[in-house]
Amino acid sequence: METFDVLIVGGGSVGCAIAYALSRYDLKVAVAEKELDVGMGTSGRNSGVVHAGFNNRHGSLMAKLCVEGSEGFESLCAALDIPYNRTGKLVVGYDEADKQALIKLIAQGEKNGVKGLELIDGEAIRAIEPGLTASWAMLSKNTAVFNPFLYSIHLAEASTQNGVRYFLNSPVTAVTATEDGYTVRAGAHTLTCRTLINSAGLFSDKVSAMAGDPSFTIYPCRGEYYLLDKGNLKMPVYPVPRPGVGGLGVHLTVTVDGNILIGPSADYIDTPEDYGTTQPVLDQLRAEAEVLLPGLNMRTVIGTYAGVRPKLVKKGEANFGDFVIERSPKAKHLINLIGIESPGITASMPIANMVLGILSEDTELKEKPDFIPTYRGIPRFEELSREEQRALIARDPDFGDVVCRCETVTRAEVKRALHNPIGATGVIAVKNRTRVTMGRCNGGYCFQRVIEMLLSEGKAPCDIDLKRRGDRPLLGYVKGPVK
Ligand SMILES: Cc1cc2nc3c(=O)[nH]c(=O)nc-3n(C[C@H](O)[C@H](O)[C@H](O)COP(=O)(O)OP(=O)(O)OC[C@H]3O[C@@H](n4cnc5c(N)ncnc54)[C@H](O)[C@@H]3O)c2cc1C
Repeated sequence: METFDVLIVGGGSVGCAIAYALSRYDLKVAVAEKELDVGMGTSGRNSGVVHAGFNNRHGSLMAKLCVEGSEGFESLCAALDIPYNRTGKLVVGYDEADKQALIKLIAQGEKNGVKGLELIDGEAIRAIEPGLTASWAMLSKNTAVFNPFLYSIHLAEASTQNGVRYFLNSPVTAVTATEDGYTVRAGAHTLTCRTLINSAGLFSDKVSAMAGDPSFTIYPCRGEYYLLDKGNLKMPVYPVPRPGVGGLGVHLTVTVDGNILIGPSADYIDTPEDYGTTQPVLDQLRAEAEVLLPGLNMRTVIGTYAGVRPKLVKKGEANFGDFVIERSPKAKHLINLIGIESPGITASMPIANMVLGILSEDTELKEKPDFIPTYRGIPRFEELSREEQRALIARDPDFGDVVCRCETVTRAEVKRALHNPIGATGVIAVKNRTRVTMGRCNGGYCFQRVIEMLLSEGKAPCDIDLKRRGDRPLLGYVKGPVK
C-alpha cells in the first residue's frame, strides 16, 4: 500500500495539467490512469484547437477559463516543448442571417475578453483562403492549433521529472472512505490519499459515485472525423454555430503538423468509449466540408477517428452545460471535475490552478526550491536544419536511420519513445510521441520496424500491445523464433 497526499484519477490533459501544477509544491502526488499511456481518452481525440473563448456563454466558467487558457497557452507550450502554431481561425457565413450571427459572436467574444476578432468580407476571406466561397467571416487572430498528444504527454513527463508518480494500466475500481481520506484500488495497486481528484472524463460520474457523491450523470456525445494528408489549408475554418447542435459544427482544421481534419459530428451514444466511425456520418461530414471548401480533395484521406464529449446535458436539452469544478458537498476529501468538454484542453491549466485554490483550503501548498518548470521532449529530426541533423547523427548514428518514411521518424526517436519517463507502453506510446504510423501509408512501412525494435528489446511477441492491454497485433511465431 502506497500513501499520497493527492491522488488524481485520470491522466487526460486535465489530470496531467493538475499533476504538473501540483508538482511545484512539496506534496506526494500520484495519477492513476486506466490506459497504457496518458492522453488516450478525449484528450487524444479532438480538433487540437486552442479556442479563443468567443463561443462560450458570457459569465460561464467555460468562457472565463477558456480565455485565460488561450492567453497562457503559447508560453506553456514553449516551456514544455509542445508544438503550437497561432494560425488564426475563420468562422464563415453565407447570407445576411449568418452575418448578423457573426456580429453577435464577435460581441459575445469581446464581452468574454477575447482580443483580435474582426468581421471580414468575401474578398478578404479569399485573400486568406482562396478556395472558400463564403461571403462573410469572423477572423479570430489569436486562435491556434497544437499537438494534443504531446500536450498530455509532456505535462505528465514534466510532472514526473518533479516527483509525480504515474500508475498506468491502473483502472480505479473501488474507492473506500477512511477517517482522513480514501483507500483506492487502482489496477494491481492499493493507494491511499488524503485528497482524491476526480478527473476521469467520460467516467467522472462513476468515480464520483464510488467516492461517495452520486450526483452526476455523463451523457456521451460522439464526434467523428476524417483525417486527410497534409494540405495547404492555412487555418481552421468553422461554420456559423447553430444552436442545439451539441458542438461547434463540422469544420475543417489544419493540424499543427499540416494534416487536414474534417469533423466532428455530434451524436449522443450509449457507450462512453464507443470510438467507432460510421458511413452515414462520414458521408455527412464530407457533404458539409464540401460546402465550406468546394475544391477539397477527398482522395487524400488517411483514416477516420472519433472522440466523445462528456456532456452534462441530455440530447435535446440546453446546448451547453458548464464545467463543474468543486469540492464535493457530499464527500469532503473529493474534488470533482465533471463535464469537462470543449474547450477543456484550452482551459486545462486555468482548471488546474482553480483546483489548486480548492486544495489550498485544507492543504498547505509549500513551493519546492528544486521545481523544474521546463521540459524538452524527443528531438524531431525532420524539423531540424541540416546542420543540426548532422550534429545529432554524429552523436547518435540511430538518428541517421529512418524508420518511418512518410513522417521522417528515426530509430533514435523511436528508441527514446520506447524508454519514455512515465513507463507508457504499447505501440500507441511510440506513435503519439514520434508520429510513426501517422503518415499517408498508415504504418504500412514503419509498423513492422517498430515491432522489430520491440522484439529486439526482449519483448515477447504476445506481450506487445497496440493501443490497449490485450489489443495484440502478434499472436506468436509460426515457425519458431528466427535465430
Ligand atoms: C470531438 C471533440 C473535439 C474537441 N475539440 C477540442 C478542441 O479543439 N480544443 C479544446 O480545447 N478542447 C476540445 N475538446 C474537448 C477536450 O478534448 C476535452 O475537454 C479534454 O480532453 C478533457 O480532458 P480530460 O482530461 O478531462 O478528459 P480525458 O482526456 O477523457 O481524460 C480522462 C482520463 O481518465 C481516465 N479514466 C477514466 N476512468 C478511469 C478510472 N476508473 N480509473 C483510471 N482512469 C480512468 C481515462 O482513461 C482518461 O485518460 C474536444 C472534444 C471532443 C470530443
